[in-house]
Amino acid sequence: MLNTDLTKLLKEKFGFGEFRLSQAEVCQAVVEGFDALLVMPTGAGKSLCYQLPGIARGGTTLVVSPLVALIDDQNQRLKQRGFRSEAIHSGVPRETARGACRDYLLGNLDFLFIAPERLAVPGFPEMLKRRPPTLIAIDEAHCISQWGHDFRPEYRKLGERVAGLRPVPVIALTATATPRVQADIITQLGMPEAKLFIQGFRRDNIAIEIHEVSKSARTEACLKILQEQSKPPAIIYAPTRKAAEELKEGLAKKFKVECYHAGMMPEVRERVQTRFLRSECEVMVATIAFGMGIDKANVRTVIHAGLPGSIEGYYQEIGRAGRDGLPSRAYLLYSFADRRTHEFFLERDYPELKILQAIHRALTEDPTPKEWLQHKMKSIESDVFDKALEKLWIQGGAVVDPEENVSLGRAKWENSYSQQREHRQLALQQMGSFVSSMDCRMVYFLNHFGDARDSHAPCGICDRCLPLAERANAHARGVNQSEQTRVALMMAALSETGSCAAGRLFELVKASDKSLERSDFEQLVLVLAQAKWIAIADESFEKNGQKIAYRKIKATARGATAQADELAALVMSESGFQKNAGKSRRKKPDLPASEAAHWDTVAEEIFERLREWRLKQARTQALPAFRILSDRVLKAIVLLRPASEAELLQVKGMGPKLSEKYGPDLLRCVQR
Ligand code: ADP
Ligand code: MG
Repeated sequence: MLNTDLTKLLKEKFGFGEFRLSQAEVCQAVVEGFDALLVMPTGAGKSLCYQLPGIARGGTTLVVSPLVALIDDQNQRLKQRGFRSEAIHSGVPRETARGACRDYLLGNLDFLFIAPERLAVPGFPEMLKRRPPTLIAIDEAHCISQWGHDFRPEYRKLGERVAGLRPVPVIALTATATPRVQADIITQLGMPEAKLFIQGFRRDNIAIEIHEVSKSARTEACLKILQEQSKPPAIIYAPTRKAAEELKEGLAKKFKVECYHAGMMPEVRERVQTRFLRSECEVMVATIAFGMGIDKANVRTVIHAGLPGSIEGYYQEIGRAGRDGLPSRAYLLYSFADRRTHEFFLERDYPELKILQAIHRALTEDPTPKEWLQHKMKSIESDVFDKALEKLWIQGGAVVDPEENVSLGRAKWENSYSQQREHRQLALQQMGSFVSSMDCRMVYFLNHFGDARDSHAPCGICDRCLPLAERANAHARGVNQSEQTRVALMMAALSETGSCAAGRLFELVKASDKSLERSDFEQLVLVLAQAKWIAIADESFEKNGQKIAYRKIKATARGATAQADELAALVMSESGFQKNAGKSRRKKPDLPASEAAHWDTVAEEIFERLREWRLKQARTQALPAFRILSDRVLKAIVLLRPASEAELLQVKGMGPKLSEKYGPDLLRCVQR
């Protein structure tokens, strides 16, 4: 029986006076049995949108969620509210799990939480089918899409498995899905008729501004921001662990600051996080490992000391500012060199298609030891080979057994790999287009996520809505002689071409002025746009089914008729941050440590022991050995010879999860 008096239920069972933005609409649809896709930012109150309909529909709601911590948290909260809720995942004692199954079959549960892997456990889906749930909720649904920024391979089969439990309605929830990811979720879960609720992305209390600041000047810039323009509590996102630690050092003379990254011991991370939550420290410098589930309402400032890897990630991170609704600021400090660092990592993590193809061609039906294969293809560097083989395996093009014998997999794998690689490139490109876009920053997000219900009116507080020159902290000056010459070149090129893509215009001007840097050019573009000499349109074209964004520039009537003596009247608006502190020290991106170091017989012995141990693990888990730990990580362990878990965490590629799981074993291998 359906209970449609939802507001009453909201009050009685959940203790809330009223629905938030569109919760009522979603609940109504789900109670009526429609499938739904819900894309709303973190904190919007998505959970209620499956919890209340679940109670209204009666029976058990099955909730699939990828993170044990999130499952435990939700499960606990529901219990506290007096609901009958249980969770089954790898961390739950077997007896408890068995009890939960019993209760489920007896119809004694309102909610059953599971991790996605559970549906692959033999017997489990059959058990569910004996008494099907009345609603299925898929939380963090972006994990299902390979276009999502947090794709989990174990989510891939979810669609199939959920299909076995149909025709029960399915509600998919996520805080981060672009239109492409939304479409993918719908396909994967087989819910073409799902009602879409994509909204709530506007944050009207976060003022976003973006500055070009070289790497060496970022610590100073952060100090300046926090002392003069905005205030703590602040989160500073650093691009690498090392950068995070350096920034912390640099800020420590003025602020109570802590650092957080995945290379620290879990207890230490827990401690610094708590200090930040309790306001015992005012600034948290962290890598993107920090923030999931962090609920601190009064964060006033979020600074990114480097270009983020994707718009989705960036939006999530700045969203941790101003949860209390009070005015807050987000600063992004980047330089064009950041983009190259990202590209370097992309090349490393996604080897070129032709390398995968070469390996694929070398495979036969007969399993060949990986080492033979590698020997045969000596021209491919061993790290690249490992990465490429792993990708080939993930795509199904190669079959690899625990002993790392490799044989031919299926023929169709290339498209999916190329698409994934291109998607990564696109994400970087979009980030580049975001920083240089002339549009309101908030409107850019709304378009990116496809928020159709918003008015798309400019936010009025970002650096595009309120150009720097108009703000008190700006340092305005006239355009100098060489800049005037460049402007003249730009205007001449535009009058010749009519209109022109920004990148092309840069090339044209650079042809006459070799010393022109892209960053100087971008600044002049900004000046000219603000003076209304040029107009900039965000355009795009299709390439391989993907939208590639670019800016098209053309001279306005005002610009086309501007006289030479007007050049001097143009005003440069500078952020007030030094672009280069002292001489610009060009640093290379953090390249993986070279293996050239000391590799002696002892090293060889340790390496062998580690490999033996890895093989055993691979056999018990029925996975290729490289999925346990790659050769690169094993070698790094050999070279560092860690004596404690803390030291083990210093090894590139070792995170707390791996160290918790394998730490003691690995240390034993090193020491024996
Ligand atoms: P999301 O999953 O969208 O990130 P949650 O579902 O965890 O967000 O909800 C965030 C917070 O908002 C929770 O503490 C929840 O209890 C609260 N909340 C949800 N709906 C309402 C409501 N209608 N009134 C008051 N508080 C609500
Ligand atoms: Mg949630």
